[in-house]
Amino acid sequence: MSVPFAEVIGDPIAQSKSPLIHGFWLKALGIEGDYRRAHVKPDDLSAYIAERRSDPDWRGCNVTIPHKIAVMDLVDDPGDIRGTIGAMNTVVRQPDGSLIGTNTDAAGFYVPLADLDLEGAPVAVVGAGGAARAVLFALARAGAGHVTILNRSPLKAMGLLATFGLKGEVAGLDAALPPAALLVNSSSLGMTGQPPLDLDLSPLPEDAIVYDLVYSPLQTGLLKAAEARGLDTIDGLDMLIGQAALAFELFFGRSPPEGRDEELRALLTA
Ligand code: NAP
Repeated sequence: MSVPFAEVIGDPIAQSKSPLIHGFWLKALGIEGDYRRAHVKPDDLSAYIAERRSDPDWRGCNVTIPHKIAVMDLVDDPGDIRGTIGAMNTVVRQPDGSLIGTNTDAAGFYVPLADLDLEGAPVAVVGAGGAARAVLFALARAGAGHVTILNRSPLKAMGLLATFGLKGEVAGLDAALPPAALLVNSSSLGMTGQPPLDLDLSPLPEDAIVYDLVYSPLQTGLLKAAEARGLDTIDGLDMLIGQAALAFELFFGRSPPEGRDEELRALLTA
């Protein structure tokens, strides 16, 4: 008997934690369904989408590097993701075979910040890639105040401020941090195999929050330095689980089980 399934596609794909997360929720809820990983190379993306479109058991897929931009040409975009965040991380198959692309990263990023009042708050963001776009989209929605983007290529960051209608400035990675209420690392720096992110955190006020999107390793050098200064921190698993939760609802029509996040985090860090 066939069962509904979703999957995560990318190149490479072995490192993806999405099958663990969705598999945990499927089992916890007793849903007869499956979540797989599929290795899809860039040249095969179009054929992959065409084939899955005709499979009524396929609920959709999460999309990771390097397909987040290319997939936008292959699916419908009713939420104008192309004109806003500019990258899709989720494709959902409708019963009539049409495919809707969306992005759950921005909402996933915002989940652990939902109880904070960011209206008018000064924020610093490191990075100007795909993840930074989701972060800036969410910050604009939350009414963030002055936004300082620090990036290796500051010019790239300049365009992002305008894209998201944010007021602020851009700087290189060697610039001093502003006294931001929230510091977000959305760059690859600090990730396993990448150079560390070395920032002097002393300009941050005592009640600042430091949020690192990197989740491998989970306890990054940035978070260690923030904790050493007594600042509150948020690690990359919160966003990873948050964006997955929204995709799970779209694929399987149910919310993830409540009260199981600690168990899931333990599974993801085992
Ligand atoms: P991306 O589009 O490739 O952007 C990478 C960013 O890192 C760019 O700003 C780039 O600077 C900067 N960078 C890369 N290597 C650098 C180096 N050697 N020196 C200085 N800057 C460097 O990648 P992404 O998709 O935005 O992902 C960025 C990070 O966010 C990754 O660690 C990813 O795992 C994480 N992430 C986490 C979640 C989550 O759910 N927690 C979700 C999405 C992404 P330039 O602009 O100058 O190239």
